[in-house]
Amino acid sequence: MIIVSEECVSTILTEEDGFSAVEAVFAAMARGDAYNFPVIREAIGHADALYGFKSGFDRAGLSLGLKSGGYWPGNAQRGIPNHQSTVLLFDPDTGRLSAIVGGNYLTAIRTAASSAVSIKHLARPESRTLGMIGAGHQSHFQVRAAARLGNFESVVAWNRHPEMLDDLEKTVQGLGMDFERAEPEQLAARADVIITITSCHEPLLMKEWIRPGTHLDCMGTDTRGKMEVDPDLVAAATVFTDEVAQSTTIGEAQHAVGKGLLQDSAITPIGDVINGAQAGRISQDQITLFDGTGVGLQDLAVASAVAAKAQEEGLSQTAHL
Ligand code: NAD
Repeated sequence: MIIVSEECVSTILTEEDGFSAVEAVFAAMARGDAYNFPVIREAIGHADALYGFKSGFDRAGLSLGLKSGGYWPGNAQRGIPNHQSTVLLFDPDTGRLSAIVGGNYLTAIRTAASSAVSIKHLARPESRTLGMIGAGHQSHFQVRAAARLGNFESVVAWNRHPEMLDDLEKTVQGLGMDFERAEPEQLAARADVIITITSCHEPLLMKEWIRPGTHLDCMGTDTRGKMEVDPDLVAAATVFTDEVAQSTTIGEAQHAVGKGLLQDSAITPIGDVINGAQAGRISQDQITLFDGTGVGLQDLAVASAVAAKAQEEGLSQTAHL
């Protein structure tokens, strides 16, 4: 069994690694080769914490395991991140524990990879302006992964807490792109692709603001009750997701589906687009929306990739139970 520390993960895991692993596992999910097990998430009644497991098995990539972790709101005062997670990987042939992998940096990379995969497969190739709604921890990763695709020249951003935009501006300029601040309506009028990554519970983008041809990546809504965009916008868009069952219950589509504006059957797994089994964008004017809810298999795929890399590079520690 190997241990790959959080520090090692953040040193060796690249955006490219995350992108390849996530694209491959979305494809495996759509082929029926990989499936997520039911998610457990509980308020534990201690330290105000939410704790749970995401788990699954990828027969194609041979990743079996779970990500354990959650949210401890008091951690920041102790100088450690509020989100905490660890991935355990098991040998699918024997069930023996094969790796323990730090899951914090990994989660940020796999979440960013997810929106980058959707941009690659769904955005108009001539997209040049990236809109960012949100400027928290995760926004920096989303911007870096999107920039890696190579098309974006500028970022236009909004955040409810404007002081957080200063750091995002530094990240964007460090990537060689122009940075501008705008209110959400103006942002929508400028951007070709919009990533939402907030903890909001009400719509920040309205249907009538979105230009034809826009691609939206709704990444913040990963729990019942959260919301980032107008349900009428979700209903008007062609909707894609990592996993339909999560999209309709804890993802951005939960509200449009709940109001009867959108049917589950109208939501396409992004893996089907990757595999060529279903169409992605079919016109320049279509509004496409990716509902990125975050699935356990993303964590396992990226953890497997980084565990293999750490072992190859002699950076993992070996331990025996
Ligand atoms: P963070 O705490 O660092 O930042 C939170 C962001 O949300 C900030 O931009 C903040 O200004 C904004 N915000 C908070 N309340 C808001 C409100 N009422 N209206 C508008 N904006 C508001 O968090 P983070 O790590 O950047 O994560 C952002 C969100 O993404 C979280 O809600 C997190 O749960 C979610 N997330 C989703 C996935 C996924 O796979 N889909 C993965 C990781 C994180």
